[in-house]
Amino acid sequence: EAKRRGAGRVSLASAALIASADRQVHLEGQLRDALANDELQLHYQPVVGVDGTVITAEALVRWPHPDRGLLPPDVFLPVAEQGDLMRDLDRWVLRTALREASTWPTHNGRSVSVAVNLSGLVPGDAEFVDIVADTIAEAGIPWNRVVLELVETALVDLPSRVRQSMDELVQRGVQFAVDDFGTGYSSLARLKDLPAQIIKVDRRFVSGVGNDSSDFAVARAVVDMARAMGRKCVAEGVETATQFHVLRGVGVDAYQGWLFSRPVPAKEFRAVLALGPLHIPRAG
Ligand code: C2E
Ligand code: MG
Ligand code: MG
Ligand code: MG
Repeated sequence: EAKRRGAGRVSLASAALIASADRQVHLEGQLRDALANDELQLHYQPVVGVDGTVITAEALVRWPHPDRGLLPPDVFLPVAEQGDLMRDLDRWVLRTALREASTWPTHNGRSVSVAVNLSGLVPGDAEFVDIVADTIAEAGIPWNRVVLELVETALVDLPSRVRQSMDELVQRGVQFAVDDFGTGYSSLARLKDLPAQIIKVDRRFVSGVGNDSSDFAVARAVVDMARAMGRKCVAEGVETATQFHVLRGVGVDAYQGWLFSRPVPAKEFRAVLALGPLHIPRAG
């Protein structure tokens, strides 16, 4: 009797497991199709200078799912990862973002760069340089309008062969950015070893700069260090005027966050560019 109850419980548990594995496989198949059929979309979020001028826009992928609405990356990137689709997804985003950006109007008399997140297609990939170079050539976008965002872990301890291949791209004008800086394992001292021209300070430190003295200290240390090493510093997730003004005080070069704009669909982004510099709120 106890044995039978036990067996029943096991089969219930495995039924739930099978159902969730089924759902996962189903979602993965749908994602594979969406990718093949060009059904993913890119939203763009401005990165602005201290005067509110848009310098760059970060491409952020979205999936308009037939039953579940517009899905954010947190929901489907793990599925892509699981299904070995991440490299193809990155290639799709790179191709689409560079093509869309190649047609953006100038903004305040200057060209706006486009930043693409890479996690499946990384510098260690034997085809990395060729894929990036070919995609830039196909899009017909100037090399110096392309920013590639990678997390710290994809940029540390790279063999010199890989660093040389990244240098080839940098020489032609491509910029690399360390995304989510401060969340990885590197110490500040290792910043000098990271092959990136741009440091994006993670939102978790930005959120507290106005009221948490240790967040403020981290932000200031990163900015000082970045400047000493000739890197540009971008603050992620700037939501309030106070955060903006505190960060401006420590010398952050550029700002991204809801304070200026949410990520918006491609067409809306063109309209944002046409409006001129974004509004800089007064210190509150
Ligand atoms: P990320 O590269 O650090 O991108 C910034 C994330 O912060 C975006 O979330 C953006 O919408 C969000 N964000 C921007 N400003 C604010 C703000 O003021 N407050 C708050 N709370 N959030 C803000 P999203 O679009 O959901 O993307 C999440 C992550 O998914 C990205 O983090 C990136 O790691 C990844 N991702 C997004 N698109 C792509 C892609 O095309 N390829 C790859 N490989 N990864 C992507
Ligand atoms: Mg990013
Ligand atoms: Mg980031
Ligand atoms: Mg982040």
